[in-house]
Amino acid sequence: MKRIAIMGAGVAGHLAALYFKKRLPGVEVILIGRPDRKRPIVGESTVELTTHFFKGLGLGRLLEEKHYHKYGLTYYLKLRHNPECRNYVVHEAPGVIRMPAYNLNRFSFDKDLRQIVGDHQVHMIEADVTAVDLNAGEHATHLLTLRSAADEQQQLTADWVVDATGRNRFMAKKLKLHKEATYQRSTFWLRLKDFDRSILSSITAHKDKHHCYDPYYVTHHFYGKGYWIWMIPMRSDDGNEMISIGITYRPDMIEQKISTLEAFKEKVMADHPVITELIESGQLVDTQAMHNYMYEARQYYSTEGWFLLGDAAFTFDPANSAGLAYVAQQIPQVAAMIEKDIHGSLTPAYVNCLESHIQAQLALQDTWSKWYEVMDDPFMMGWTLLFANMAYFHVVLPMYMTGDFLDGHQAQQFADLLPRYTREMQPSPLPFACLLQEIRRSNPGLSPTMMPNLYSRTINFDLYKADNRARPIYASNYYLRSALLRVRLMKMVKWSLSTRHLRLLLRHGCGAVQDLARAAVLRLRPSLFYKYGESPELLKSPFGKDGGFLDLVRRA
Ligand SMILES: Cc1cc2nc3c(=O)[nH]c(=O)nc-3n(C[C@H](O)[C@H](O)[C@H](O)COP(=O)(O)OP(=O)(O)OC[C@H]3O[C@@H](n4cnc5c(N)ncnc54)[C@H](O)[C@@H]3O)c2cc1C
Repeated sequence: MKRIAIMGAGVAGHLAALYFKKRLPGVEVILIGRPDRKRPIVGESTVELTTHFFKGLGLGRLLEEKHYHKYGLTYYLKLRHNPECRNYVVHEAPGVIRMPAYNLNRFSFDKDLRQIVGDHQVHMIEADVTAVDLNAGEHATHLLTLRSAADEQQQLTADWVVDATGRNRFMAKKLKLHKEATYQRSTFWLRLKDFDRSILSSITAHKDKHHCYDPYYVTHHFYGKGYWIWMIPMRSDDGNEMISIGITYRPDMIEQKISTLEAFKEKVMADHPVITELIESGQLVDTQAMHNYMYEARQYYSTEGWFLLGDAAFTFDPANSAGLAYVAQQIPQVAAMIEKDIHGSLTPAYVNCLESHIQAQLALQDTWSKWYEVMDDPFMMGWTLLFANMAYFHVVLPMYMTGDFLDGHQAQQFADLLPRYTREMQPSPLPFACLLQEIRRSNPGLSPTMMPNLYSRTINFDLYKADNRARPIYASNYYLRSALLRVRLMKMVKWSLSTRHLRLLLRHGCGAVQDLARAAVLRLRPSLFYKYGESPELLKSPFGKDGGFLDLVRRA
């Protein structure tokens, strides 16, 4: 029987074991790692993409019964930068999104996940991997050396090795694949219990009122210059309220190193005293800090039977709660490559397409790094988030649900949209940057409270199932909304008869018309959405279309 060895029994290793067991039933899955090893855990907040994967794995009931619903990300953009000002423009979902997401208590989630993986007869070995010899065994299998807590050594062979060793990055170090991240990040976070959550209502929030859900059960994001703060409500093991609160900042923009609760409170007090008050109302559970924690690797996937997964591959900014969403994409990608390998049809071209898809995700990280420069600006940041949300709900999420991220041509097309730049060449992250700047210049009195509610214009409320035929329609809707939002922005400029304004008018007028034309063309000829046409057999997803990669129930 062919064998996959997963090194590292963290969340990525366990999820991979469960997926491989269900998706590749003819293969033996071995998960190697010591559960007694401590590692930093946040909260944590998931997005619709992540929980779609979890549900496919059969974890839906666990999420529903033991974790809180997350009714979207709520953005708090402060109107003036002084501690006295408690006025925020707040963007929150004006309705319940049809794809659910959850705020996880990762401590209890990881414990339950381990139990579930054990119930699925995954062979678990409680040991550390101390050496891997690639292509050392018979038939080019890999040889792993393990050491248990009792210092006993054993060896085993595997046809494929999946490195999920987290920040230890076993294979990246062994193969010297380390790559510096374009931008660094530092972070500090804490968990709190027995706090008074009504304190959060002591701000003045400019927002659309609704009666759809309790606004506390979201992931809260507060912004400031060079940093953002998360608050993730979660359910403790005994069913009580807990909350994870943390800051992520660009260390090149914030001199002060935040390593203690006192330093964190001091930083937050200056902009968001409501958070300090919330912390002081409760009981501290624990704290964690990481400095300059970003890294990447030069390569994540190979044709030689090794793959890097989760934090063993790269780290990222937790903005937008994307962390486990990367894992949810990588695991099926690794399974697709293994499936092809089993059938002798794995080609370097297919591996390259999936590799470039992952690289494109990191291009998004670079863009988010630039957000830090406008995070304290409710107008610029608000519009930036608006467009990022729109792309997620109209392009990224539908692509995931259909399984098109496993198709060679589709993965490549996605990668083309997001090329990587050096730090010096990094473009502005603002949508229509010159238009936004002109609004600011010509109409300085414009209040950020005039912004359209972020979600009502950007969420794809139609999306609830995997449907390949709908993807071009969603893309068409994206262009249509983009054109309408651009026109809305154009209306905010105080126009005058000047060459600069004439140029601006022409440029954005043409841009809006172009987007409308794209929207119309995609409606009339949806096939034009697929830039490279249908993939040849060797580049096709081995798991089919319309979400076949999560068609796991009958395989369980
Ligand atoms: C500040 C911050 C906030 C975040 N917020 C979110 C969020 O809101 N939402 C989200 O989805 N994600 C978030 N993430 C990301 C997410 O928490 C991580 O990506 C995820 O926990 C990584 O899991 P992992 O299994 O790859 O690594 P780990 O959890 O580190 O697991 C690796 C395992 O491998 C073991 N190991 C190491 N070396 C060996 C070896 N030689 N042999 C065997 N085992 C070994 C370790 O002991 C460990 O058990 C956040 C991350 C950070 C830093």
